[in-house]
Amino acid sequence: MTHRIGIIGGDGIGPDVIAEGLKVIGAAGVELETVDYDLGGARYGRDGTVLPDEVIEEWRSLDALYLGAVGTPEVPPGLIERGLLLKMRFALDLYVNLRPFVYPAGGIDFRVVRENTEGFYADRNMFVGSGEFMPTPDVALAVGVFTRDACERIARRAFALAQGRRKHVTIVHKTNVLALTTGLFRDACRSVAEDFPDVHVDEEHIDALTAHLVRRGSDFDVIVAENMFGDILSDLAGELSGSLGMAPSLNASETKAMAQAAHGSAPDIAGRNRANPTALILSSAMLLDWLAEHDGDVRLTAAATRIRSAVRGTLESGVATADVGGLASTAEFTEAVIARTLRR
Ligand code: NAD
Ligand code: MN
Repeated sequence: MTHRIGIIGGDGIGPDVIAEGLKVIGAAGVELETVDYDLGGARYGRDGTVLPDEVIEEWRSLDALYLGAVGTPEVPPGLIERGLLLKMRFALDLYVNLRPFVYPAGGIDFRVVRENTEGFYADRNMFVGSGEFMPTPDVALAVGVFTRDACERIARRAFALAQGRRKHVTIVHKTNVLALTTGLFRDACRSVAEDFPDVHVDEEHIDALTAHLVRRGSDFDVIVAENMFGDILSDLAGELSGSLGMAPSLNASETKAMAQAAHGSAPDIAGRNRANPTALILSSAMLLDWLAEHDGDVRLTAAATRIRSAVRGTLESGVATADVGGLASTAEFTEAVIARTLRR
């Protein structure tokens, strides 16, 4: 069975690292049918197009999306983010943002499961308009949104994930000051936990958790968080595991996935063969795992495992791009990963 994947290379280093990711997928023996979408800051600059409704309709018939990075210095900040990334997230209801953090030297191997559609991000938690507003020039207010349904569905994903791992979920909240909102999140997670009696549950306040992640990151397995807490934790954890160029992610609904790196289009290094493709390569492994989970194709799981161990082996052999202290170019790094992926 071939999978149909929409490719959005985007801007800056996006198209380059996506190309590297696709080469590695091919080397792992997976054939994908790809459909290219010319979207992002450059496209917007040419004809003012951000994300046409027809494109979203086309995406509904695809299995998944694979995105590089979007955004150019010329485009007003936020325009592409809201018009493309957020619109995509809501149209396809990609409510899970899954981010793995692995740093073998520090014994770190945990996942942040971030709720992607509501919470404290006031610019994205309303159907129409913004949850942030100013009654007078000197007063600013913001609304956080927590619904039991959304909290329960993200909790369910977190507990299911933990069941296949070390069976440990940490619920993040701040119930000492945000008793109702993060309290609802915590209570929804607790009630889902009852359906997973084999999974150990604990809870941490967000501020304490940041300290504990730095001090003893190896104690964590799956961390479930609302949108903003999850966003902040992800950057902290990304840095704990090396560099922005290393951090993959997957956005998913029940029926659709979008793999992307945590980083942006890095205009400062674009076109110089210097970008670290690791994040996108590891995102492709997450995508293959997700596709495997959805159609039971174990060859995809095997390919994902092979890609991950090829990346690990390459880094352990000392081949690395400049952002993590190495000398390899983007192409050289990918070649080394491909050589290991092909090795059985
Ligand atoms: P960025 O992630 O693009 O870059 C931050 C720093 O990290 C830069 O110094 C960059 O060179 C470095 N970096 C990032 N990825 C790297 C990689 N793979 N290899 C080596 N170094 C890497 O963030 P920014 O500078 O804040 O944003 C640049 C543009 O990207 C903006 O237009 C922004 O809107 C956009 N952006 C897009 C996404 C996305 O598409 N998901 C995410 C964040 C930012
Ligand atoms: Mn972020």
